[in-house]
Amino acid sequence: MKNYKIGLLRGDGIGPEIVDSAVKVLKAVGEKYQIDFTFTPYLIGGAAIDACGEPLPKETVEGCLASDSVLLGAVGGPKWDTLPGNFRPEKALLGIRAAMGLFTNLRPAKLYPALKGACPLREDIVKDGFDIMIVRELTGGIYFGERGYRQGKYGEEAFDTEAYSRMEIERIARVAFETARKRRKKLTSIDKANVLETSRLWRKIVHEIAAEYPDVEVSDMLVDNAAMQLVRNPSQFDVIVTSNMFGDILSDEASQITGSIGMLASASLSDNKRGLYEPIHGSAPDIAGQNKANPIATILSAAMMLLYAFDEAAAAEAIVNAVDKVLEVGYRTADLTRENALSTTEITDKIIEAL
Ligand code: NAD
Repeated sequence: MKNYKIGLLRGDGIGPEIVDSAVKVLKAVGEKYQIDFTFTPYLIGGAAIDACGEPLPKETVEGCLASDSVLLGAVGGPKWDTLPGNFRPEKALLGIRAAMGLFTNLRPAKLYPALKGACPLREDIVKDGFDIMIVRELTGGIYFGERGYRQGKYGEEAFDTEAYSRMEIERIARVAFETARKRRKKLTSIDKANVLETSRLWRKIVHEIAAEYPDVEVSDMLVDNAAMQLVRNPSQFDVIVTSNMFGDILSDEASQITGSIGMLASASLSDNKRGLYEPIHGSAPDIAGQNKANPIATILSAAMMLLYAFDEAAAAEAIVNAVDKVLEVGYRTADLTRENALSTTEITDKIIEAL
């Protein structure tokens, strides 16, 4: 029997509840497909600050690097909001991404037919649904550039710097083209080339790499237009590739138009495919510990792990189909319905039954 070592980063708020749900589903699918998992929990975020005074302890980084893959819940909460930047739970996210070399973030944004009612866009706009994969660069750009405070002409001033190297753009562009090749073969590269030098280099390199993928149709779009097109006509997009900050913003917009942030998974990948899988939402402190959270985003993140990290396509598809089935029957958590909402554990059990 195959065995995969999975590092679990439960984190804070609803993190522990949703990760436990995904673990239950992985165990169930493992039984069906003869896959064995060894789960090892590590501390991260506020929980790590409380236990050992820092958001990303050395043992956590070492444990994640030694795992075959990592499943993360979410970090952060009001308890730690007043700590200085470097000691905040969210700092651990940037730290673990950098330590694991996770330069690619894959974020699917799909409108589930059963959840069309939850989509805030007009019916005629989403009548054909949409299924977008956002490929976001994750370890470069302005979030990792030089930053600081200084005295400027008008007194106190702060600055952040955006830099992208050829290597960083080439490797994310290749991931995007490969991803498009496995889907509808349409890639939109999003930048701000009318203003930013980094975007002009980005565009030039994406066009160069395009020559290696003649089967993929590629086009450029300015980020301001992209923000508009996502709500005007989301079905025009298949795969989107963009920089760290633009991807951060556009993927949240894309998630919002699907109707629920509690549904969307993500994968962060490195060269060797070892990855970190997590829901796109945060730690939802307002509902933490109440067995109310929607675990589907985390369960679908586990499905992405099976597919991308372990090449277990059948097991991954089984999870996705089970989620589809449960939604079609009409089961919902409180974020998706006002009436007869199921709890975190109840909907998890329904998904396991559907498997
Ligand atoms: P959030 O995503 O935690 O919550 C936004 C809203 O969505 C809340 O009303 C919440 O109850 C709801 N929600 C989120 N996930 C849900 C789920 N699975 N089921 C049902 N409802 C859900 O965003 P926020 O409130 O801006 O941030 C809360 C904390 O999370 C902050 O400390 C923030 O820094 C942190 N955060 C962490 C991550 C991460 O760990 N990757 C990402 C974003 C925010």
